[in-house]
Formats: sequence, structure tokens, C-alpha cells
Amino acid sequence: MSPLQSIMQRSTLRLLGGAFLIIIACTIALWDYTTQQIEQWQLTTQQDEDCKPCEGEESQASAVETPEFIDETLDVKRGDNFTSVLYRAEISKDQTLSLIKALKTIFSPRDLRTDHKLFITYRPPSEKSATKDLTRLVIKLSLEKDVVVEQDEAGLYQARLETKELIHEYRHAEGKIESSLYVDAIKQGAHPKIIHNMIQAFSYDVDFQRSFQAGDDYCLLFDFHKNAESLEEEPGDLIYACLTLQGKKIHIYRHTPKGSVAQYFNEKGEAVKKGLLRTPVDGARISGVFGKRRHPVLGFTKMHKGIDFAAPRGTPVMAAGSGKIVRIGRFSTYGNYIRVRHNSKYSTAYAHLCRYAKGLKVGSSVRQGQVIGYVGCTGRATGNHLHYELLANGKQINPKHIKMMPAAKLKGAELQRFMANKELVEKRLQNLRDPLTEAPEILAKKILRLANPLKR
Ligand SMILES: [Zn+2]
Repeated sequence: MSPLQSIMQRSTLRLLGGAFLIIIACTIALWDYTTQQIEQWQLTTQQDEDCKPCEGEESQASAVETPEFIDETLDVKRGDNFTSVLYRAEISKDQTLSLIKALKTIFSPRDLRTDHKLFITYRPPSEKSATKDLTRLVIKLSLEKDVVVEQDEAGLYQARLETKELIHEYRHAEGKIESSLYVDAIKQGAHPKIIHNMIQAFSYDVDFQRSFQAGDDYCLLFDFHKNAESLEEEPGDLIYACLTLQGKKIHIYRHTPKGSVAQYFNEKGEAVKKGLLRTPVDGARISGVFGKRRHPVLGFTKMHKGIDFAAPRGTPVMAAGSGKIVRIGRFSTYGNYIRVRHNSKYSTAYAHLCRYAKGLKVGSSVRQGQVIGYVGCTGRATGNHLHYELLANGKQINPKHIKMMPAAKLKGAELQRFMANKELVEKRLQNLRDPLTEAPEILAKKILRLANPLKR
């Protein structure tokens, strides 16, 4: 045997031995696996036998799988109408049509909005019916109003409006302005909508961009409407608010005069909503309107950015609204000119004046109706007239486009009603601050008794 042959023989033997070992190992593994499988199979069959439900249990199990009625909430998406919403919920065309027919008696399907919530109840498809059977639909219109459409005994849809009881809950927020009224009042539990109402109501008297100082006090009284059943809530109205600005306290009260809408009044019963005077000069006639016109001096077409009031030289010119003088003096073709800033948005300007009222300078405060100057023809003017401009965010706009109503003041019986309401509000606030004081409802009855001593 050559040395090469003996090497080959030895390696063949080793290979054979290795293969044998592998086969044995595999056989053992297979045996193990098979035994396991058999054991497991025995276990599962045993379990199956153990868990075979008795007759009563069987019917209960199937009831869980297919309940008789299913409730579902449907979303109203942009561009949806009733048909598309119900189509998505797989309600048949026939049922959708008859449902809409019933619904129309109290609610126009066109009024469906994306913020409406829809709830449906239906019988799932079964052997009897291949489609869902819609039995009830509820549209939540608001916190207090639901539209309900239900199948009657004959299977016909009937629609009705359901009004839920609402609880009015009074809340208050107060403190010092640290960063901004908005941020601080939110921290104290006020709702953004309420703060927005407050800023709007105060905007006639307060310049929110300039007037505040850190440490100024604020106070809000508002209500929340709560659904008595579901306890869902939404903000109601701002009832009262106060601001202390540079040591001066200003109050506003919500009040609804008879035959009118709710407005805000100060403690004297004067409406806080102050418009601008329609004519800042008494007895003047309009000689030039806002818009494009042929310029009387220059001859070509030019935009006239104000209203001209023709009046004799020296006729007093009044501030159209309360505010601060931001410009007074000679101003190019405007001649003698005054600009009054009323709030963060609106200013008014008065041009061609022959002179100014005494003592006025930049920064002077003026009241609505206060005489600030006199009609003249300074600057580029053909005759004596007042050129009057209304500016919104620094740009001239047509004064005709905003309402200019003088402030209203409550009088007589209406003022008395307001004062009684005001007292009630103050008590309510006191009651919220200190719950041990007399409940406002009791006080309301007392006030009524005082006002009508004969009625009990
Ligand atoms: Zn003009």
C-alpha cells in the first residue's frame, strides 16, 4: 500500500464514521419531535373534549358574535351630504331615501355641517336581510338640540327634535396681568372665546397694544352651558369684566335691553360700543365722495381717499371718535392736518383746517365730539372744506363701509333693569369668590320683590 492509498483509506473511514453519527443524531431528533407532536395532539384533543360547550352556552356564545343592534358614530367630512355619509356606512339607498324624507320635516339635510355628529343604530345583515337595517339616527346639532329619526312599529321613519336641559354654570377668572391678558386669563381657567369677547368689548376704550402695564388687574365673570345628561360643556357668554389700567378701574356688564340684542355697558349704563360720528362738522354738506374723480385743481383722474364736507371758514370740526392725537401740524398738500388714533385699527384724519383748537398737541386725548379744529382751505384746496379720512391699519378706506353710530345710553325703566342686573352680577361674583355669601338667586328674588312689591 502506497502512503497515498493509506491516507485515502483512513479519510474514507472517517467520513463514513461521521455520516453514521449524523444519521443517529437525526433519528433521535426526529423521534423526539414525533413524540412531542403526538403528546400535543393528545393534549389538544383532550382539551377539545373538555371544552365542548353545553347547549345553553352555545347560544350565548353566538349572541356575542352578532348582536341584534350595533351603534356607530359617523363623521361628516368636507363635501359630504346625507346620502354620502350613509352610503359610507353601507346603509341601503332605499332606507337612506325614506330617512331623508322623514328628516326633512324638521331638519334640512342641506344644513348638515362637518361639526355635526351623527350616531346610528342598525341591525346587522342576517339571513333575513342582506343589508343593514337602520333603526335610529341621531344628529347632534348643539349641546342642547338633537334631531332623532326612529323607526316606528310599522317600520316607518319618524323625526323629532329633542331639547336637552342645559345647566348654566357661572365661573370667574381674575388676577394680575403678568405676561398678557390672554395667557394669564387662560391660566386662571377662562376660555379663549370668553377672552376674545372681553378684548372686543374693551377695544373701544382700551388700546390693547399700548395701554397695558405689568401688574394691571383683570377680572372676568362668564358662564358655561352644560348638558345635564352627558355633562358635555361649552363656553357661554362673558357676563362681566373689569380692567384696572394705570390705577383706573373700568367695568363692563352684559345686558339685553328690551327688544334688542345683548350688548356691553359701563357701570353708568352707557354702551361701550362707540362708533364714529357720521359727520364731524355740524350742518355741512358732502361736496366730494370717496373714490376716483377728476381732480378739481390738477385736472386728471385721481383717487379721492376721503370725504369732503363743504362748510364756511371757521366752522368747528369735531373728533369723530375718542382717541389720541398722533399727528397735528402742516402736512404737505393736506395743509393743517390732525390725525386721531381711536384704537389699534382705526384712525381718522382732518385736513385743510384754518386752525387747531387750543392746547392740542401730539399725545393729547380727545373725546368723541370734542372740537379739535376749524374748517379752512390750507394746503391744496379750491375752497373752504373739511377733507375727512378714515384709516384702517394706516390705509384710507371708505367711511361708508363701517357703521358709525353714536354711543347709546340706557334711560328710564331700561336703566333700572340694567342697575338691578348689575347688582345681581356683582353678588354673583362675590358668591364665586366667597361661596358663603348670599346666593345670587335669592338676591334676584329680593330685587324682583323690591321692583314689584304687589307681585309675590
Ligand atoms: Zn378731499
